[in-house]
Amino acid sequence: MKVEFIAFDSMGVKSSCVQVKTRDATITIDPGIAIEEDSFPLDGVRRTWLVNKFYSEIIDSCKKSDIIIVTHYHYDHYQPDPELFKGKTVLLKDWKKDINKSQKGRAAELLSIIEKGRNKAKLIRAIDGKELRIGRTKIKFSKPMWHGPEKSKVGYVLMVSIEDATKKKLLFTSDLDGPYIEKYANMIIKEKPDVLVMDGFPTYLLGFIASYENLRKVLKNTIKILEKTKCELYILDHHLLRDYRYRELYYEVFKKAKELGKNVMTAAEANGEKPQCLLGYMKNGPTRWKNWEKLTFSKLNKIVREAKAKGRKIRTKAKKGKTTKKTTGKTKKTKAKKTTKKTAKAKRSKKAGKTKKRKTKKPKKSSKRKK
Ligand SMILES: [Zn+2]
Repeated sequence: MKVEFIAFDSMGVKSSCVQVKTRDATITIDPGIAIEEDSFPLDGVRRTWLVNKFYSEIIDSCKKSDIIIVTHYHYDHYQPDPELFKGKTVLLKDWKKDINKSQKGRAAELLSIIEKGRNKAKLIRAIDGKELRIGRTKIKFSKPMWHGPEKSKVGYVLMVSIEDATKKKLLFTSDLDGPYIEKYANMIIKEKPDVLVMDGFPTYLLGFIASYENLRKVLKNTIKILEKTKCELYILDHHLLRDYRYRELYYEVFKKAKELGKNVMTAAEANGEKPQCLLGYMKNGPTRWKNWEKLTFSKLNKIVREAKAKGRKIRTKAKKGKTTKKTTGKTKKTKAKKTTKKTAKAKRSKKAGKTKKRKTKKPKKSSKRKK
């Protein structure tokens, strides 16, 4: 089996495109691409240049492939471009079952492009939970798995494993955001891969839709995977590599990897290059995050604990406000209303995963990281 990392976030584009070549077939997984966020430490011109550069490599990989796999319908995992699928066997996440509205719309768009006409695909199949063989190569797809937390609005993805005649196995987790769910970590362990390609937590969204509490879950699950598998190579990339702080935020994972002697790296590093977010940071300095430090479990526990305490305080205050509303007369109504609004806000922030506390407990200054 020959594995090629075609385009990844560590290379400066939103992507996780891999090519796997066995004696029986060449397979490209997730031929998608998108431009990095403004928080990425490269200017827009450079980011666009990278998209163009890597998109031509993705096209090239697809041209050399017999099979194209799309694990879900986000543009960093496929593009609605017939050039990628023309004359190929196309294995897709089921577009009818276990799919959210936005992915369903995009799937319909893709199918309309590749189903007919001069540029149509050779064969199109929905492959959720299926296993197929090409010669002595086995390709196995998971059942739909949540893109991030359970009941995620972003929808489902498929995990893919490819095993060649020599029983060497690559496992591509797609976008599990971590893995975040412990059951998924156990599924990865059970697969016993030799090469594991994981997407990592979206730390660039910490304090928005990603919480420290969830980051803690992901770190623990990742460490469990390192402890219980014997991969020759662990790729940690995609969402995580959108953030130039990634090595400090994943401090515990890298520490454990070193302790266990596990080969953990980004796709860029596997290709012998430094991750673009670090190169960009070194050249251009910080963008959104100016100060941060190594995030140890003890610091992380403290952040989560304080966040929870703050959430409780807001809730108690809000409850008291509610009581005031009930017992007071007309004149106090406005005030009570305001407090109730606060309650709703507090509830919302709690639901969003206790991320508010970031304001008070952001990882602090690291004197070493000054440019
Ligand atoms: Zn993605």
